[in-house]
Amino acid sequence: MKILKFGGTSVGSPNAFLKVFDAIISNTDGKCVVVLSAVTGTTDKLLEATNQSIKNLEQSFKILSEVKNKHLDIVNKLFEDNINLDNFVNSIFNDINNRITAYNNLGELTSYNISSVVSYGEILSSRILFELLQSKGVPSQLLDSRELIATDNNYKESKVDYQLTYERFVSKSHIFETKNVFITQGFLGSCNKGKVSLLGRGGSDYSASLFGFFLNKMGHNIEEIQIWTDVSGVLSADPRIVTSSKTIKSMSYDEIRILSYLGAKVLHPDTIKPAISANIPLRVMNTFSHDNSLNTLILGSDKLVTPSINSLILIDNCYELKIFPDSTENGFSTCERIYNLLRNSGNKIYLKIASEEVIKVYLKENPAPLLNITDNISFSVNSISLLAFTGYNVSKMINIIYNSLDIFNLSIVAYTDNCCYLKCSEKFEIEKLNRLHNFVFDNYSQKE
Ligand code: ASP
Ligand code: MG
Repeated sequence: MKILKFGGTSVGSPNAFLKVFDAIISNTDGKCVVVLSAVTGTTDKLLEATNQSIKNLEQSFKILSEVKNKHLDIVNKLFEDNINLDNFVNSIFNDINNRITAYNNLGELTSYNISSVVSYGEILSSRILFELLQSKGVPSQLLDSRELIATDNNYKESKVDYQLTYERFVSKSHIFETKNVFITQGFLGSCNKGKVSLLGRGGSDYSASLFGFFLNKMGHNIEEIQIWTDVSGVLSADPRIVTSSKTIKSMSYDEIRILSYLGAKVLHPDTIKPAISANIPLRVMNTFSHDNSLNTLILGSDKLVTPSINSLILIDNCYELKIFPDSTENGFSTCERIYNLLRNSGNKIYLKIASEEVIKVYLKENPAPLLNITDNISFSVNSISLLAFTGYNVSKMINIIYNSLDIFNLSIVAYTDNCCYLKCSEKFEIEKLNRLHNFVFDNYSQKE
């Protein structure tokens, strides 16, 4: 069984819904769980409308009518005549309007009030897709994720209760025995009183991962979790700045973690934790591409064999701090002391390297002011650009990176299994970044 998750843009228009339909039909053998986000922009707008309800009711209604029209437009373009669905959309917006009016009367908003309105985004999108599958004769079933995912009662940003969720899944296990396409809502759960709760922004990836985790725990074979978006997988660099960035074929969970830590816009490691713990492969796919081979498979390192360099990241405007421990203190205890000081100050630390002779810390903000006033230590600070090549077993590929050092005025700072860190003492221009990307990846593909 596969889990397919579609983000907001994948259900952003009538045409997008049809692409989702195609993706479901061509990527599964019938049995799958489809986890949906709300139609693009809906969650933001419902949040805004709810927040406005206690300030400016008219503005709130205006936002809601835009959201309603967007949904009715999708419905009218997808179906010639679907009175039931029209009624469904209308009844939901009537309910939202009633709630908003009540909040206005009360003059205050609770976290539950917010989640009860915002949750309608996913309830709408999932129902539309369900009707589409029905209209095309595909055996399908709508699942209410509020009856499956159990959370605490921090409604707007709730935490999943794994034990209770497992019990809920088990109590409904018979449902999953049928050969159906199951459609469900991402982002939603409910607390033990049954009231709807939200898993935090971007929570649908987490939902997909949870469905994989619990179905796997119940003994279903989950081949993979597919995350469908509007880009072709995870790319070798930020495509907004590196024009020839290309799709990475496969990478490890660990690499995703480091990429995300360094600031790349990839799957958030927390949202894929359940999938990782069940060792389920993830695949990032593009709903809008005709070329389905352009996707990225994300697996445990134990399943990767060939060393690879996959991606390049530039962290502009950061700082290299060098601390020289004095002879009265052990270098490693100095390191710990300063590191805690810097971390508690909220500075983002990318990397630290410690030896008895020198401690180097690479960070986002200039640490000099803090160290000047708080500590009697000898240190120096340089403004630098930090670059990172991530991959798998990077140390085996290091010769390719070496060849670029002189040409691009770089030096290696450190490397780990999944990442090689480089620095440049001057600003690293975008044009140079493009050249470095092509230099390394062109070289590399010749060797592949
Ligand atoms: N619709 C929710 C959001 O925009 C959840 C998601 O899309 O993942 O945050
Ligand atoms: Mg969304």
